Amino acid sequence: MHEFTNILLNEIKLKSLETSEEIAGVIFKFKELNFFQMDNISHSKEGEFEIDPKVILLKDKIHCIFHSHPISDAAPSCRDRNIFKNHKIPLLIYSCIYDNFVFFDGEECKPIKV
Ligand SMILES: [Zn+2]
Repeated sequence: MHEFTNILLNEIKLKSLETSEEIAGVIFKFKELNFFQMDNISHSKEGEFEIDPKVILLKDKIHCIFHSHPISDAAPSCRDRNIFKNHKIPLLIYSCIYDNFVFFDGEECKPIKV
């Protein structure tokens, strides 16, 4: 249950590759996992992201928070790790240059190849 499907990951990957800016979104766990792109409210859209605090209110339905790394690898940055620390929500990160995902649950970074 609540596994990433290739269809979902490919959808996220294509959206990430459409732009040179960092994109962000939330993967909700309803019956299946669903991706909703969110505005990146950070002022510097190339190197970082912030998620709208309102989204956190839906925490129980959130599987993970997604953002892309347009020009770096998919490893979570210090800021990313802080997002996990603050909200206890796992992160999914896609690297546009290395074409891979990392799922970070606070302990482990699990690579996901599509
Ligand atoms: Zn990041």
